[in-house]
Amino acid sequence: MSYFSELGLAEPILRALETKGYNDPTPIQRQAIPALLEGRDLLGIAQTGTGKTAAFSLPSLHRLAANPQPRKPASCRMLVLSPTRELAAQIADNIKGYAKNLKLMVDCVVGGVPIGKQARRLVGGTDILVATPGRLLDLIDNRALTLGRVEIFVLDEADQMMDLGFIHALKRVANLLPKTRQSLFFSATMPKSIEDLGKQFIQNPVRVEVAPQATTAERVDQFVTFLNQAEKQALLSLRIRALLADKTLDRALVFTRTKHGADRVVRNLNAAGIDARAIHGNKTQAQRTAALEAFRQGSSPVLVATDIAARGIDVSGVSHVFNFELPNVPEQYVHRIGRTARAGADGVAISFCGPDEKVYLRDIEKLTRVKLDQVPLPENFLAEAAKLPSAKRTPEQIQQDARREERDQRGRFGDRRDGRGGGAGRDGGRDGGRGRPQGQKPQGQRPAGDAPRGAEGERAEGAKPRRYHSSGAPGVGAHRNKVRRAS
Ligand code: AMP
Repeated sequence: MSYFSELGLAEPILRALETKGYNDPTPIQRQAIPALLEGRDLLGIAQTGTGKTAAFSLPSLHRLAANPQPRKPASCRMLVLSPTRELAAQIADNIKGYAKNLKLMVDCVVGGVPIGKQARRLVGGTDILVATPGRLLDLIDNRALTLGRVEIFVLDEADQMMDLGFIHALKRVANLLPKTRQSLFFSATMPKSIEDLGKQFIQNPVRVEVAPQATTAERVDQFVTFLNQAEKQALLSLRIRALLADKTLDRALVFTRTKHGADRVVRNLNAAGIDARAIHGNKTQAQRTAALEAFRQGSSPVLVATDIAARGIDVSGVSHVFNFELPNVPEQYVHRIGRTARAGADGVAISFCGPDEKVYLRDIEKLTRVKLDQVPLPENFLAEAAKLPSAKRTPEQIQQDARREERDQRGRFGDRRDGRGGGAGRDGGRDGGRGRPQGQKPQGQRPAGDAPRGAEGERAEGAKPRRYHSSGAPGVGAHRNKVRRAS
């Protein structure tokens, strides 16, 4: 008998969990499920990867199934709001898996695809609806959906919602929901602006807090190489090629600051014979889905992404995370490296730090309390780099790229080091055009030094550390980062 049954979940749900191979609840599930089964509201401070989707889905499914209701046209009984399309699709897939032995219907509506089909699907109503905010409001405005019958409301990744400029959309949703309902509010971080937003949705909530960001970071072997910006591409291509050759790399996520930077990195990796694809807000939904699927299936082992596009992507087997550029907000670094080391596995994070990024590195090490291991450039770096084929570009294309990138950088990061906002842009929010208009200041910026909270880590014990590479560079290999505990 699994511990899940002790939590009081219904038998068809337990069977579904057994099929999935879940034996024990994660800390957030253990803390949240009993209170949610009682119908309490919940304030959850947790990031993706902690098992929060099951934490909110399982008790909700139990409650909905325990009180069966005929479906009503253009309505749903449970509404889950997610900031990005990928995350929404992922949540819906997870819920479908947990609900597979129940007679509950799960649907997902996101922007970037025609609205007509979604509206038609909703004619007869659904039980559970997962949505991005823009498309949800479009459907409501088109009279394809009403929220008057929502019994359970889940707001996921609230801090990300704020970053993407969904605050007004959320306030509208709050006004459309019935007063009597159960509400669950999740955020990876809880600065005051997010807590204030939460107050509009939840009443007398149970507060659950897991996996502080700094703790998650301790599970990952972290390395840094100091180099110039112009050397980064060659080092990336060489490292990935070597890691693929000795089969150390299963899947790698490469983070760039800008969308055009991501495209350029992909072109150069492809030129070096490495199968890589990009995922960011300028891609069509079809391109994003195809890139993610190729990555998930392993046919394209390298995915180059901007922060927002990658947030929440749940692909198991990401062995390496490369920070082509360091993020200027340290929490973003933790989100990035959290893409590896999921579900107990260990991972490797490799950062390329340019001379102007050292200040970001200092902030990251302060937040995570982990000192990154320095790996020098390979001895034969210049000779090897010179042999690399690079993507052929005309001088006009190069100039155009440079201009675009400069625009991207100015609009997205600038020197705004006091908050999280600039990095969000429209990227990932592309949701019916309701995200923050370009150039508008992001909302809910976090003041400097607003450290993440949390009490309970999920460190995987005894997991084997992965190697960065096998070429024997000094300081690299099977030892773990030193964890410096701040006094
Ligand atoms: P989430 O934080 O909801 O994105 O979940 C992260 C990953 O952990 C997903 O791949 C889940 O399928 C998986 N997961 C969630 N709960 C459990 C559990 N109790 N045991 C094993 N894996 C789980």
